[in-house]
Amino acid sequence: MMRTLFAAAASAALLWGCQSVETTKEGAVGVDRQQRMMVSSEEVDASSKKAYSQMMAEAQKKGVLDRDPATVQRVQNITKRLIPTTTVFRPDAAKWPWEVHVISIDEANAWCMPGGKMAVYTGLIQKLNLTDDELAAVMGHEIAHALREHARERVSRQMGTQMAVGIAGALFGIGNLGQGLGNMVADVTLNLPNSRLHETEADRIGVELAARAGYDPRAAVTLWEKMAKGAGAGGGPPKWLSTHPSHEDRLKDLREYAAKVMPLYQASASKGGASAGK
Ligand SMILES: [Zn+2]
Repeated sequence: MMRTLFAAAASAALLWGCQSVETTKEGAVGVDRQQRMMVSSEEVDASSKKAYSQMMAEAQKKGVLDRDPATVQRVQNITKRLIPTTTVFRPDAAKWPWEVHVISIDEANAWCMPGGKMAVYTGLIQKLNLTDDELAAVMGHEIAHALREHARERVSRQMGTQMAVGIAGALFGIGNLGQGLGNMVADVTLNLPNSRLHETEADRIGVELAARAGYDPRAAVTLWEKMAKGAGAGGGPPKWLSTHPSHEDRLKDLREYAAKVMPLYQASASKGGASAGK
């Protein structure tokens, strides 16, 4: 009796809170998948913005925020070219409060939180000696995660589990196992590995963004080759790479999609790159 009641209550709660959405248009690469969300973009973006300013304030306090003006300029220039291309996937992204900072951390990483709040670590640029095309490939990939609202989707999944726990908790007096939304968003963006599905979507959208911005989309391939060779602490691959799609599959997919968007790159490059995506 108790079990039936619990199951009914849990599924009702999941149904009430859940909504299927398509966060982006398909683009030339044709990413098309319905996503189940339990929290609004507005809530996620607001929490993300708050978590981001706290992190940047902390970075400032520790003296690791935007220390090298030349690198900051370089990263900002690439960002400025990539952002106008995002409207192909979602017109609203033009009005996002985009922001990027360079953090002096000796780790090959970069990320984009929901709503366009980005960070690039110096370790990424230095350890891999990245070209602008390769840096644009990383940033395009991270921006794609934000456009697809993968963090919102992942948080939604966590909330689904927690809500079931919450009802059980209320029934059995266990208490609330909830966690602040801002922490959850930061955690899924910075720490937890993405699913293979999310990675593939970000790879495909990423090459299109880069191509439209006038960056050679084939650089995504050389980037991942470099990454596998020597971004880790001991010179080997970084530990998060092993959680990503299997390396060979990823390279194969990137080659295929980079070839698909080559005409966009050529069209954009012939216009001078910076005006791409308008
Ligand atoms: Zn990713």
